[in-house]
Amino acid sequence: MNSLEKIDLSNKKVLLRIDLDVPIKDDQIVEAFRIEKQKPMIDYLISKGARVVMISHNSSIDSFGSIIPQIEKILGYQINFVEDLDNRDAINSNLTLLDNVRRWPEEKENDKEFAKKLAQGNDLYINNCFAVSHRAYSSVSAIAEFLPSYPGFLVQEEISQLEKITASPKEGKVIIMGGAKAQTKVPVVKNFLNKSEAILVGGVIANDILKERGVDIDGSVADENSKELLEGLDINDKRLILPEDFHSLNGKILDIGPKSIASFSELIGRAKMIIWNGPMGRFEDDNYSLGTNSIAKAIVSSGGLKVIGGGDTITAVNKIGLLDKFDFVSTGGGAMLAFLAGDKLPGLEALGYYR
Ligand code: ADP
Ligand code: MG
Repeated sequence: MNSLEKIDLSNKKVLLRIDLDVPIKDDQIVEAFRIEKQKPMIDYLISKGARVVMISHNSSIDSFGSIIPQIEKILGYQINFVEDLDNRDAINSNLTLLDNVRRWPEEKENDKEFAKKLAQGNDLYINNCFAVSHRAYSSVSAIAEFLPSYPGFLVQEEISQLEKITASPKEGKVIIMGGAKAQTKVPVVKNFLNKSEAILVGGVIANDILKERGVDIDGSVADENSKELLEGLDINDKRLILPEDFHSLNGKILDIGPKSIASFSELIGRAKMIIWNGPMGRFEDDNYSLGTNSIAKAIVSSGGLKVIGGGDTITAVNKIGLLDKFDFVSTGGGAMLAFLAGDKLPGLEALGYYR
């Protein structure tokens, strides 16, 4: 991949793909972690005298208009906000932000004309949004055909941290998978079954596996197509560790139980590297957060390398104030899982990562 450190950025016009895909409720940013992670890259470009045009998306609001003051506060800069992509004259400051790229349907079509329009007037492109790099969209994929393209600091950091996980020996490596989106998580389980010492499973994905093992999970949440989702995975493999007890309500599994917490914690305590994605139960409800919180505490107390990812997992750990005890917190949910599953990420491919 190209390296930013080697180039003179003074007066260069940089199209910077940032990450503003944070949860928003009533026009308020609920969790700013992903935006905060953009600051070093922006600081660097500004300090080198570049003229920066930022592009990004948010999947829950249409326009960035209402959250601009909050973004300015988090980043520590005044922003020239431009809603109309065709108004090139409006791009007249050191730090411009174009409106939500997803307002244009062409973005998700990886449309080349749209990418060309984004590229227009710029000298180079930087992708600093790891979390969308598993998508073949104009602002991370097609765009690279029109500008010399570079990985941003955050994308570099994500790659090097996640490479550590994929490249390290299986001894002492423990993966913890929970949460609800089994479709994105089962491929990671498949990829790591032979490359880790144990995979601890909780959440809905555990329900799926139990169901396929013939266990009666009653009214618990599980995927309807769990059979297809689990195809190709040996669900009886000894390295696949399922909860042995649960905290349930009227037969509905909502958290892992005390025995499972104890046995999971013991395995975590012996690990040299721990990768965690997905809560153990319905943690949003305090009655069912003990499993998730206990796993977080067990990881924090262990001496191993601690890596965490996933929007809800980060929210859960942040809630009990333990996020800064992790060695690496990935901004990527789906992108992290795709990387760990061994998939080729279109956004990284566009930067020449797989060449
Ligand atoms: P992440 O965002 O960390 O990748 P997911 O989005 O996959 O995690 O899953 C988080 C969701 O899974 C939470 O809303 C949580 O309530 C839900 N969940 C976990 N376990 C259960 C369960 N046993 N029953 C119902 N929902 C569950
Ligand atoms: Mg989630």
